[in-house]
Amino acid sequence: MAQTNLIRELQDIVGAEAVLSAEEELLVYECDAYTLEKNLPTAVVLPGTTDEVVAIVKLCNRLKLPIIPRGAGTSLSGTVLAVDGGVMIALTRMNRVLNVDARNRRALVEAGCVNAWITRDAAPHGLFFAPDPSSQSACTIGGNVATNSGGPHTLKNGVTTNHVLGYEMVLPDGTVEWLGTEPDGGEEIDGYDLRGAAIGCEGMFGVVTRVLVRLMKTPPAFKTFLGIFESVDDASQAVSDIIRAGIVPGALEMMDQLITQAVEEAYHFGFPLDAGAVLIVELDGLRDGVEAQGKQVEKICHQHNAREVRVAKDDAERAAIWKCRKRAFGAIGRLSPNYVTQDGVVPRSKLPEIMRFIRATSEKHGLRIPNVFHAGDGNIHPLILYDERKPGETKRALAAGHDILEKCIALGGSVTGEHGIGAEKIDFMPKQFSTDDLDAMKMLRRAFDPAQRCNPHKMFPGGKRCAEFAPKKQVAA
Ligand SMILES: Cc1cc2nc3c(=O)[nH]c(=O)nc-3n(C[C@H](O)[C@H](O)[C@H](O)COP(=O)(O)OP(=O)(O)OC[C@H]3O[C@@H](n4cnc5c(N)ncnc54)[C@H](O)[C@@H]3O)c2cc1C
Repeated sequence: MAQTNLIRELQDIVGAEAVLSAEEELLVYECDAYTLEKNLPTAVVLPGTTDEVVAIVKLCNRLKLPIIPRGAGTSLSGTVLAVDGGVMIALTRMNRVLNVDARNRRALVEAGCVNAWITRDAAPHGLFFAPDPSSQSACTIGGNVATNSGGPHTLKNGVTTNHVLGYEMVLPDGTVEWLGTEPDGGEEIDGYDLRGAAIGCEGMFGVVTRVLVRLMKTPPAFKTFLGIFESVDDASQAVSDIIRAGIVPGALEMMDQLITQAVEEAYHFGFPLDAGAVLIVELDGLRDGVEAQGKQVEKICHQHNAREVRVAKDDAERAAIWKCRKRAFGAIGRLSPNYVTQDGVVPRSKLPEIMRFIRATSEKHGLRIPNVFHAGDGNIHPLILYDERKPGETKRALAAGHDILEKCIALGGSVTGEHGIGAEKIDFMPKQFSTDDLDAMKMLRRAFDPAQRCNPHKMFPGGKRCAEFAPKKQVAA
């Protein structure tokens, strides 16, 4: 009865077609791209305006229900998970680019706008939106803000926080605040600059509804290299030496042999199947500078035993390389029915060591672990392959991920580079942060959400977990 009333009231706000409550509809929303923990929300609502978001949030407050903001659900760490039921607010109908202000190099977009659409609309003005997660053809700017997303071009251009000037957010009590630069204002703001406070908050501080982003000028020249190496060690040494030479490529990405084989089988680019590692180095900037640095990059690759260094011959070939890299996770289906993506960081100089450790972990747990990652940032993405139908494999996959993240911490790194903590990495928080650090983070959270009903049971230890609270679709271990 209570659920019927909730659905009726939600329908009064957004219309019947924008409320989902049947079990088969809710199944789509039982998890994000981290599929090891699942639970159904009580309802999913798809608002079309900020006013509708406000009304939904106020209704949930009155009924003391959790709210879970959602973009495209591509998060890889269980950040969009209705651990305890509640109302999932999916922003995907609020998806417009509202304007591109080429003169001031900025754009105002709704939170559900797909990342790649910003560059699509900015490109005719010679501009682009820099943060480019590999999921950019699906993920939304609201999700990017809430996870402070990075991407292959983070190395030179920075992450989402470096490209968001301000945003509108519906706070958990239903008030609407604009944090940072306002759409019709100058870049200077009065008073506290709270813009950064909620970037990376994983949906726990409110619902972002509109975002003012910074646009960058499209570089006049690009040069994209493929370094073909016999081993990951050699490729990692080349990465260190390229940076040591004072070159900051737009992107510096690595694929190991297993992932290169899967990508080749899926997209037929022409990658050599016997290479130990493939390094993608992209330089951008003024033509002369790019040419000069390109010569240095080629020399460094050869110094580290590159078998071959290829250069993309035109824009089409460059686009094909990026298609292969950005769709690499999609090729994994050819290798395994299930995989879990890890997201750790190590100091760049420790890349050879962590890659050796991953190989040892693969052998220890008897699971294959291909790697495709942002080598320039030391941000690794081991993809742990398993088959949930085989007894014990799920547990072994989790244990392997655990070992790798522990090693990242031991090497002076971090348990997340860009995918966030969510439900997945809660247990690592006390390993990486002191009690004082965690208390400070919780205090900031409570300043935005005293009742802690906005995306609860994420990031901080001590909350409910799906495994303990009767998930409807928990996979067998
Ligand atoms: C194939 C693949 C490749 C990926 N590559 C990258 C990569 O290169 N770099 C990277 O950083 N990530 C990557 N990701 C992870 C993911 O795409 C990013 O975290 C992305 O920013 C999530 O956006 P989303 O719209 O899907 O958000 P969701 O997954 O729906 O939500 C993510 C978090 O944001 C919150 N949220 C969403 N919208 C709002 C809103 N409007 N207001 C408040 N909170 C909100 C949610 O509550 C949740 O905590 C990848 C994922 C996949 C599946």
